[in-house]
Amino acid sequence: MHISSRAAALRYSTIRQISEKANTCGPDLVRLDIGDPDYPEPTLLNQIMPEVVAKGSFYAPTAGLPELRRRLALRHSEAFCCDVSPSSVVVTAGGTGALNAAEALFVDAGDSIAIPTPGYPNYRSLGPLLGFRTVTYGLDPARDWQPDLNEIEQLFATGTCAILLNSPHNPAGCVLDAKTILEIADLCRRYDTWIISDEVYAAMQFTGTPVSAFALAPDRVISAHSFSKEFSMTGYRIGYALVPDGLAERFPMVLMGLMGSPSSISQCAALGLVSNEESSGARTFYQQRQARVSELLAEAGIESWEPKGTFYRLIRLPEQIGDSFDFALRLIDHGVATVPGVAFGEIPGFGERYLRLSLTQSNERIEAGIHRLADAL
Ligand code: PMP
Repeated sequence: MHISSRAAALRYSTIRQISEKANTCGPDLVRLDIGDPDYPEPTLLNQIMPEVVAKGSFYAPTAGLPELRRRLALRHSEAFCCDVSPSSVVVTAGGTGALNAAEALFVDAGDSIAIPTPGYPNYRSLGPLLGFRTVTYGLDPARDWQPDLNEIEQLFATGTCAILLNSPHNPAGCVLDAKTILEIADLCRRYDTWIISDEVYAAMQFTGTPVSAFALAPDRVISAHSFSKEFSMTGYRIGYALVPDGLAERFPMVLMGLMGSPSSISQCAALGLVSNEESSGARTFYQQRQARVSELLAEAGIESWEPKGTFYRLIRLPEQIGDSFDFALRLIDHGVATVPGVAFGEIPGFGERYLRLSLTQSNERIEAGIHRLADAL
């Protein structure tokens, strides 16, 4: 059976390997591996959906429903004290749709894009299919997880076309400073390169002023946003991109080539939601949970990096543990599933000796999971 060499080269992700083993276990296993939020979906959807379904589905305009674009522009402008025009908003199939289209827009086969390490593993998934490479830049806890501008300039100087930023960050929960984003945008102007800013966790920043890279440098940034995390609407596959003026027509063309226009049903659901000013309580919910987890980890003597946003938590593994992947597999036998550091890449100065906990189970289950983890350690 012939398939393309690019498809044949794709490998299952480490997270997938862990969840495949976890799926074979019974309900007693505490699943701290998956990032599907447990914060309830908006109850308003129970009202909205029957009407949406009754109206029927249709092919929506490539850039998205005009009224949804208008509402999203308004919402973003209010949240980040900026002035986003509806023509800059393009509706996408989740944050993933926005990120993939931005990569395809900026990077040719043979070129490279810079992604963070540690970082979300899916940033590596489109390159093999479109024939471009990913190179990494480090996020160092010793520098409060801010990228090193010299390292980024070096990458741009040697041909890297775009840099992917992610704030708040999966897996570290760190956030980028506005100053750092502005400095990277300056480098982009100098080298004619681009920022692709993954902001799917923007509504879950606990401390400091929330930052939108698009608001800071609308000429050099495409940003990706999502209903998956703020509203727990992961299965609707709905999100949007903010796109610089000169690219607002070309971006939907790329989107169309990659995956067609996003579901009209999901767009109508999203429109119903944002039209009714439903604001999500996800930030407070996860901030309180993170505070409780800090206490539990401290009581158990487990070291972790304190996050400033998201529902993720990185814990450090002692040196004698060895390989994080093997340890994560063995943890499943101890009744708790986590994701090993090897899935996200090295933390400068620390390597892959860490695990990511996804705090998307009830507080009781998380507490049980942390106790099992402490016993195993
Ligand atoms: N970016 C990051 C950092 C993520 O963690 C995720 C989902 N886990 C996504 C993007 C994709 O989210 P979605 O496509 O559901 O909006």
